[in-house]
Amino acid sequence: PYKGPLADEILRKRKEFLGPSLFYYYQKPLNIVEGKMQYLFDENGRRYLDAFAGIVTVSCGHCHPDILNAVLEQSKLLQHATTIYLHHAIADYAEALASKMPGNLKVVYFVNSGTEANELAMLMARLYSCNLSMIALRNAYHGGSAGTIGLTALNTWKYSIPQGEIHHVVNPDPYRGVFGSDSIRYAKDVQDHIDFGTSGKVAGFIAETVQGVGGAVELAPGYLKLVYDIVRKAGGVCIADEVQSGFGRTGSHYWGFETQGVVPDIVTMAKGIGNGLPLGAVVTTPEIAQVLAQKVQFNTFGGNPVCSSGGLAVLKVLDKEKRQAHCADVGSHLIARLRALQQKHEIIGDVRGRGLMVGVEFVTDRQEKTPAKAETAVLFEKMRDLGILVGKGGLHGNVFRLKPPMCFTKDDADFLVDALDYAISGM
Ligand code: PMP
Repeated sequence: PYKGPLADEILRKRKEFLGPSLFYYYQKPLNIVEGKMQYLFDENGRRYLDAFAGIVTVSCGHCHPDILNAVLEQSKLLQHATTIYLHHAIADYAEALASKMPGNLKVVYFVNSGTEANELAMLMARLYSCNLSMIALRNAYHGGSAGTIGLTALNTWKYSIPQGEIHHVVNPDPYRGVFGSDSIRYAKDVQDHIDFGTSGKVAGFIAETVQGVGGAVELAPGYLKLVYDIVRKAGGVCIADEVQSGFGRTGSHYWGFETQGVVPDIVTMAKGIGNGLPLGAVVTTPEIAQVLAQKVQFNTFGGNPVCSSGGLAVLKVLDKEKRQAHCADVGSHLIARLRALQQKHEIIGDVRGRGLMVGVEFVTDRQEKTPAKAETAVLFEKMRDLGILVGKGGLHGNVFRLKPPMCFTKDDADFLVDALDYAISGM
């Protein structure tokens, strides 16, 4: 049994010694002390089904033995020396990651987080295009650094500092978007922004293919194809943020952008890439990578031997355990069961997503789509009481984000849906 500090003491120390911007889930915050595959355990030994995977980060499962082993073995030999010396782990890992990419996306940069990956992608886009203007979507999250905060378009995460030369276009959200699923009209808005809001030339366009923080919003079908054409004609490069949607999570494809039938110029990755290790990557073409060749682009920990060994083990586990097909299988079961529940409960306004990247949006009025903010908060606490941890998202905090470790099973999905049914019925 766990003998460490308890929740109250930890919370007191957090309040005293950590920044006030740090937030936590639940009225009585959880002290998580152990994880095993799709389960988390609190200080009392109580088990929770983890349907949020540390914000879509634990891809293979908590403390997956293969990844643990790779990290341990490498740690015993050498933890760090930086890329000023040679080491096989970064080279082997880059080769393996590049082999997962379509087209000419063959040059890999390793960083430590999604924010860093998007910073680097934006830098490359601006240098390559010789333009400044970036286009991003409303409802997007791309990071919280001084540069990426401009790309992020959810006011909860934005501080009032200069946001850079960034334009936010209408979100192609099939449920709440002003043009429904009409991607032609959304794409026209991008063209209008370029024509009327920029010099006519742009540096690039960035989008998640399924918006994570924004509440599991899948972009209107065909949108990226239309927009990539428009952006490229205006001199820009197209960036796919795969921080949440990559590595087979969508089930139908390995990368989220493939669901829209496009090949980006730059792809950014983090979170699930490392199953919990601090790791991120940017992959681009040799031609675009050339713009960084005039100077040194250095990152002390990027591609460090331990993270590279762990990252390579993640790729192998995902293949060995056929996780993409598993996400498709379990995800379609989960979505079908949630859609059935939607028939029963008025409060479920929308069920959406792909594979194990699923959103459930709660509304008090289906016609008006009034966000059921307070009710969602109640259900969120109730799910925790029932032993299930989900994520909350969307601008109004009225969306459950279901993005479990990919080892999540159909039985787990059934347990989650039954618990949600019970929780809603008891309200
Ligand atoms: N892009 C997306 C789509 C994300 O969801 C996040 C994190 N929520 C980031 C980028 C930033 O990643 P990090 O927190 O690792 O900097």
